[in-house]
Amino acid sequence: MRPRNGFWRLAPGAYAACVEAHSTKAMAVRAVDLCVALLHEQPSVESVSHVLRRHGETGELGLGEDDIAAMRAAAARLREVLGAPDAGQAAALLNRLLSRAAKPPRLTSHRGTTHWHLHVDSGDDAPWGAWFLASSAMALAVLLADYQRIPGGLCASAGCGRPFMDFGGGSPRRYCSTRCATRERVAAHRSRTSSSVPG
Ligand SMILES: [Zn+2]
Repeated sequence: MRPRNGFWRLAPGAYAACVEAHSTKAMAVRAVDLCVALLHEQPSVESVSHVLRRHGETGELGLGEDDIAAMRAAAARLREVLGAPDAGQAAALLNRLLSRAAKPPRLTSHRGTTHWHLHVDSGDDAPWGAWFLASSAMALAVLLADYQRIPGGLCASAGCGRPFMDFGGGSPRRYCSTRCATRERVAAHRSRTSSSVPG
């Protein structure tokens, strides 16, 4: 019997990729990548479209300058969550975002083009800014509940401050990239070396 779920119409291998793209972790990583593109680089319709496509969006995105402005405002709020001093304050920020931005959860398969997944925006045609804020706040909230801590942070390297996700156990991550971590290690080594020179 032919299953009626839309995802069976996807090409072989696409189902796994689709589930992966809609996992909570994948949504959180997408949120952080968008925050970086919107707040830490020169955002444009092209650059933001590129990030969205890298995270599985297909077809005509219909992204405009107004969407970029709305997404930038959303990105600033989401970055605040990752920079909160503790889980309690991050949770309070997320609750405020969800109460304003999220609608009742609804299941969608985007008319049979994806596997079933939850959305908390107002509809499949919700504006990009509203979608970005609601879906990202939801993903961060689920992960905060899973890990019982903020599931990411802001880079501690001077002049960077990029947000990152942190799904690892053990000691919390401090830097967004090995580049920032190396830069800080070299700077710390230099300051130790120069302060140990007699003189
Ligand atoms: Zn960094």
